[in-house]
Amino acid sequence: MMQLFIPLNFLGFVYREIRGALANIERMFDIMANVPQVEDQEGASTIRPTIGAIKFNNVSFQYDQRSILKQVSFDVPAGKKIAVVGDSGAGKSTIIKLLFRFYDVKSGSITIDDIDIRDLTQLALRQAIAVVPQDTVLFNDSIYENIRYGRPGATEDEIKQATQLAHLSDFINSLPDKGNTKVGERGLKLSGGEKQRVAIARAVLKGAPILVFDEATSSLDSRSEQAILSALRDAAKGHTSLVVAHRLSTIIDADQIVVLSKGCIVEHGTHSSLLAQQGLYARLWHIQHEQGEPMS
Ligand code: ADP
Ligand code: MG
Repeated sequence: MMQLFIPLNFLGFVYREIRGALANIERMFDIMANVPQVEDQEGASTIRPTIGAIKFNNVSFQYDQRSILKQVSFDVPAGKKIAVVGDSGAGKSTIIKLLFRFYDVKSGSITIDDIDIRDLTQLALRQAIAVVPQDTVLFNDSIYENIRYGRPGATEDEIKQATQLAHLSDFINSLPDKGNTKVGERGLKLSGGEKQRVAIARAVLKGAPILVFDEATSSLDSRSEQAILSALRDAAKGHTSLVVAHRLSTIIDADQIVVLSKGCIVEHGTHSSLLAQQGLYARLWHIQHEQGEPMS
């Protein structure tokens, strides 16, 4: 068995990860809308991928000469769930950004349905992926309108179906105006867990084959956590899903867990095979259980 050295600051990452702000995908969209880093290639396909099989092939990436991801390879067959865990700064969000092609890989390639994402228009690529960001941005409009934002043409029935999948129906039925209740400025009337479930409903409504879930780091009571977990489980059905997890309990059922450390995949496998390896993942799991604290 490989003995892994865990520096003290690694054990402390839990707290940094919880408190540190990870990039909000929606905000990233705004930023990228102003500063385009990648352009559509001439002749890029406008057909959005519909199957949703993802492959990272020896992907390396740098920011300003600094190596962030090194030879990262993994394969997510259509309909499967992959989870990425690792300490703060390991490169988890970068994996999501590269999948969206906010940046191009420096070497290697990323494919969806065996098409290099550089051969797709950005519109076609982003139509294939629905995101549940870490911090959901809600508008001061009704819950239904906030969900409709996932696909503006959606009918009320489709929105209701999405709320069921996201386990929001009971909550909505308890409100005075049901789904027409306003959420308040920036969604302040909703708890963190409810907001994330609105985001799940929004993502489901989009009807994209790939679902990306960037788990919120804020602490949730165990009931809210369970509600998100069941919502995520139902929402992921029929989707390929990529989950950046901070609470390892979120990903016990993942088909594959990738453990990142300093931009390299140091372990991968299912929850039980990783526990049996008694490496980094197993240590994280035990720490989390002993402390009862979420971590990445
Ligand atoms: P994680 O999500 O695992 O915490 P990230 O993928 O966000 O890690 O970041 C990986 C590394 O890349 C970190 O060291 C971070 O400081 C660096 N990084 C992230 N974004 C940028 C950027 N825009 N420019 C330069 N370095 C960045
Ligand atoms: Mg991150």
